[in-house]
Amino acid sequence: MYAPRMQWPEHEGDPGGRLGQGLEGAREGYLLIRPSGRLAASNAAMVNFFPALAATLVPGTHISRLLAAALSRGFSTGTRRASRLAVRHQVLGIATTQAELRLHDGRWLRIGGTLTPDGGMLVICIDVTAAHEHAEALDIARCDREIVVQKLAQGICLYAPDATVRLANARYSELLGINPALPRPGATMRSLLAASIEAGHHGERSLDGMEQACLALVARGEKRRLVLTLSTGLLVAFDHIPLENGGWLATFEDITERRRIEERAAFLARHDALTRLPNRTMLSERLEQAIAASGRGVRFALLCLNLDHFKIINDTLGHKFGDRLLRAVGERLLACVRETDIVCRLGGDEFAIIQTDIEQAEHSAELGHRMLRALAAPFRLDGEHVNVSGCIGIAIGPDDGTHGDALLRHADTAMVRAKRDGEGTCRLFEPEMDARVQARRGMETALRRALADGAFELYYQPLVDVQANRVTGFEALLRWRHPDGTMVPPAQFITLAEEIGIIVPLGAWVMHAACAVAASWPAGLRIAVNVSAMQFKTSGLAACVTSALAASGLPARRLELEITESVLLADNAATLDVLRDMRARGVRISMDDFGTGHSSLSYLRSFPFDKIKIDQSFVRDLEDSADSAAIIGAIIGLGRSLGMRVTAEGVETAGQLDHLRAAGCDEVQGYYFSRPRPGGEVAGIIARIEGELVDAK
Ligand code: C2E
Ligand code: MG
Ligand code: MG
Repeated sequence: MYAPRMQWPEHEGDPGGRLGQGLEGAREGYLLIRPSGRLAASNAAMVNFFPALAATLVPGTHISRLLAAALSRGFSTGTRRASRLAVRHQVLGIATTQAELRLHDGRWLRIGGTLTPDGGMLVICIDVTAAHEHAEALDIARCDREIVVQKLAQGICLYAPDATVRLANARYSELLGINPALPRPGATMRSLLAASIEAGHHGERSLDGMEQACLALVARGEKRRLVLTLSTGLLVAFDHIPLENGGWLATFEDITERRRIEERAAFLARHDALTRLPNRTMLSERLEQAIAASGRGVRFALLCLNLDHFKIINDTLGHKFGDRLLRAVGERLLACVRETDIVCRLGGDEFAIIQTDIEQAEHSAELGHRMLRALAAPFRLDGEHVNVSGCIGIAIGPDDGTHGDALLRHADTAMVRAKRDGEGTCRLFEPEMDARVQARRGMETALRRALADGAFELYYQPLVDVQANRVTGFEALLRWRHPDGTMVPPAQFITLAEEIGIIVPLGAWVMHAACAVAASWPAGLRIAVNVSAMQFKTSGLAACVTSALAASGLPARRLELEITESVLLADNAATLDVLRDMRARGVRISMDDFGTGHSSLSYLRSFPFDKIKIDQSFVRDLEDSADSAAIIGAIIGLGRSLGMRVTAEGVETAGQLDHLRAAGCDEVQGYYFSRPRPGGEVAGIIARIEGELVDAK
């Protein structure tokens, strides 16, 4: 294989050629070239590096041949710089510069040449593979770091102690609005500040001022966080982090969104999201402040406002409309108060107002009335016009309480009282209201429980045709079996059930129960069911009737709905539509308690009722009052000419019965024939009454 190609020149100081022997065994490759350009010697390592050139690595080969052989076997230096040098070697025949070359087996050689005193050259090849691998690893690490730095959501800028940039990422330039080419290594902090100012990020701030502020921060040598508000609206958290070498790291983070969310959360904690008015939490705080001030003799008022029938508006016009209305109400209320007062929304249709610094309680009532007047003008929203009213209860601090809770309770009590007094009223709290309201609250809870527990029952009172002498049907009358065992009549709970909205599910229960019972009666008997005005205000009455008829199998013509004049008070088209629809399906409609309303006669014109029920107050006075007798006579005549049957309610005596029959009344109802009785007694009642009527003939 390898035969020593030793022709290492002997040296005066090295007579045995030991140097040559040493070179022969060296790890580095050596190649000695004579001034003529021919090889004088090469060592074993050289052949080991270039086994393919072994044949040319022999004394006497001209360097140009060696290079040609090298090139033909694909050797080239690894870099452009190296290959350019190789050419230079060739041209000059001599070089003193180093070049690097990758071998076929992957090793890296560093090739250097040095001139020999006689004009020849010694070429030395050193295996630098290990150094290359190390550098490559360093390169990869540098590259990874660059990626990380550039991908950071934070903007960073690393400064040397002389306030020049060492490293900055693109996010930094982006946040501060400067050209990303500017913060290159060596750029001064001042130049970057100038660029950011020029980009309009710092309003009126001067370059000198900003630079001094930054340098002062650096001089303090402490970690520091500042929040910068840029002129673009961005909020940027800036961290100054001093480094041990005297330089520093500046990081920048866009916290605009985070801050917005935090501020919104803080706002929502104390405000109502819908109306943006202060909420209960803020009301409590302000109440505490007002109470504290009242210790110094400053009185204040707490007004609780609740809208009338808001639930109906919500149910009929939709929640979106309801929301818009609540916002509009909030705005009108706000327009009534001074800057020192606050208007809060407590939830639903409940608002509370603190009126600060009042001299007399009457002043708060004035504000209350002002607010009610403000609400009275129709609201025009989404093409709809709605009229809204509300009730207000007022408690005065500290007269009516020195705790927020007590004041709120008392204002609420006064509000409940106002509700009872009618829509659109305002009441100041009075201590005796409290007991009544407590009782009412208790009743309210009991009613809700009764509905859930099925504690309601229906009693039935016969309607008697006094011309044909037979029972035509029964009116279903609601009873509440109170936990104490007594039967509570509807007069004591229907109004409350209407106010708290229970009347709708309760009315549906009545409808189903009454139809179910009547379906088991003889086919000629009708059932009369009372329907509250509230049931008309919420949609769903028609569906309720349909499902009650379907579930019981009762034909529609055997059902009679009794409505009072209050149903027609609103005179809205929807109510009349429901009535017409029901009537078209065969259900009969009666006007109950006729004569007690304000414009009874006009109601008769608005809808073709099947029956008029004369209110029992006229019947009661019948025998003593010529007026009542005249009125009854007129109603009977009216009914006859309008084609409506006439029923007289509250007939208790034979005298009343005789009078009514003689006057031409079609039907009567009253204790004279029977009190309202449980459903099980219906058959017995019919038999008894019809027996009596036959006997009387
Ligand atoms: P209404 O519909 O006018 O019912 C007639 C009322 O007069 C019943 O009172 C009945 O017991 C009473 N009554 C009947 N005959 C006589 C009599 O000869 N003398 C006297 N003094 N009273 C007589 P009730 O059962 O206490 O019902 C009172 C009102 O409660 C009803 O008046 C009706 O408006 C309402 N109501 C009853 N049940 C319901 C119901 O299921 N739903 C609704 N919304 N209201 C109902
Ligand atoms: Mg009735
Ligand atoms: Mg009646």
